[in-house]
Amino acid sequence: MRLVLLGAPGSGKGTQASRLKKELGVPHISTGDLLRAAVAAGTPLGRKAKAVMDAGQLVSDDIMLGMLEERLSQADAKTGFILDGYPRNLAQVEALDGLLERLHQPLDAVVKLDVPPEEIVSRTEIRFKAEGRADDDPQVVRKRLDVYAEQTAPVAEWYQRHGMLKAVDGVGELDAVFRRILAALPGDRIAAHG
Ligand code: AMP
Repeated sequence: MRLVLLGAPGSGKGTQASRLKKELGVPHISTGDLLRAAVAAGTPLGRKAKAVMDAGQLVSDDIMLGMLEERLSQADAKTGFILDGYPRNLAQVEALDGLLERLHQPLDAVVKLDVPPEEIVSRTEIRFKAEGRADDDPQVVRKRLDVYAEQTAPVAEWYQRHGMLKAVDGVGELDAVFRRILAALPGDRIAAHG
């Protein structure tokens, strides 16, 4: 299964992707996690990305594509993946499309988690208190939501126009949201994993 998960920051993509990974037997690839690992390791890329991330902005497209290409070339991604946090703008949609075409690995599904802005704000506030992520600071969250509306919402519209988007209600119990996502996935792909 090759799946893209879309949704605003705090919409539950990461949480649901961890569960989907177990259910579908494919790795969860979060570009935010890859960047945070680079920041924690203090690599040159991590040092460059940190300021951009802390401001709630997007890291450059070429850095992100290089990072994704490297991750997708690892053995565990041969059977598929759950992509979380990429693509984030229309240039990344095109880059992903080209990359997957070269790899002969077309996407099976694109699922968007819908969560209203007021709930996003309260969820990220809770995460800020629990995990202390600098970009969950309420002021930065406002910036991230603007970036989402301007740059990432068109990504969902693009997949919608191409008949690939499934919108799922992301509000409610984790289990209920999980079941809604599974119901939105192509059945043959799930059955293939038992
Ligand atoms: P996330 O954990 O997906 O919310 O990502 C945290 C931050 O990492 C974002 O606010 C961006 O600064 C950066 N980031 C993650 N994925 C991307 C991407 N595909 N393109 C550009 N920046 C990204």
